[in-house]
Amino acid sequence: MGWSERQRAMLQEIGIRLWAPAADPQAADLPAAPTTEPDASADGAVATPAAGGAPVVRGPRAVGVETMDWVRLRQAVADCTACKLCGGRRQTVFGVGHERAHWMIVGEAPGEQEDREGEPFVGKSGQLLDNMLRAIGLTRGEATPERQVYIANTLKCRPPGNRNPEPEELAQCEPFLIRQVALVQPRIILAMGRYAVQSLLRSNEPIGRLRGRVHRYQGVPLIVTYHPAYLLRNLDDKAKAWDDLCLAVATAAATP
Ligand code: SF4
Repeated sequence: MGWSERQRAMLQEIGIRLWAPAADPQAADLPAAPTTEPDASADGAVATPAAGGAPVVRGPRAVGVETMDWVRLRQAVADCTACKLCGGRRQTVFGVGHERAHWMIVGEAPGEQEDREGEPFVGKSGQLLDNMLRAIGLTRGEATPERQVYIANTLKCRPPGNRNPEPEELAQCEPFLIRQVALVQPRIILAMGRYAVQSLLRSNEPIGRLRGRVHRYQGVPLIVTYHPAYLLRNLDDKAKAWDDLCLAVATAAATP
């Protein structure tokens, strides 16, 4: 793959080496990749009253998610009380980007900053993601469906204290992501972070053993890679992340 001077400069800026070594198939297990720094105000897994509001009463997830259009889906997520995370959120984090994007980025769950701003991948990890996307000619800013990505999380509400998602929460929330994938119809999904990857692929395997090959989710080719928050703490693995991006580029190009 040939890279322009601009792309090379960008890769250098984010610490990715073009001469990346081959992936180690025996790579050790990886820690969870939190979306943001831990929040000292976190209070554990029990649902609490929404910020400044009355306690949230849990209820069933909206019916008919699988046939909803964007407007109804967004509203269904905003109103959702299907798992205990509804009690601690400031707002749901639905997703952003081109509604027919060729590339879909799927992360784990909102962190404190995402919960405040209502957008996935903000802060330092979001900046790194933006740089990674820019290095392969993509953006979250307004552009054509070929260039503008769609970004969503497996969970739409913030787990308190940046704790790991629980299976019941992931199961309750997944129909929303499945519908987002069905509406976007991406050519490629880039799954970032252990819990996103393991949830989407129904696997307990560590990222180190799942990356480096093409999986499928809802019929769409899926590439596994590290969460940007993890890469910020583990600079040596940026080379592997770059390998993953290259695999994703090649896979997307080969997908009709
Ligand atoms: Fe509903 Fe998902 Fe939020 Fe749980 S995390 S309340 S399932 S939108």
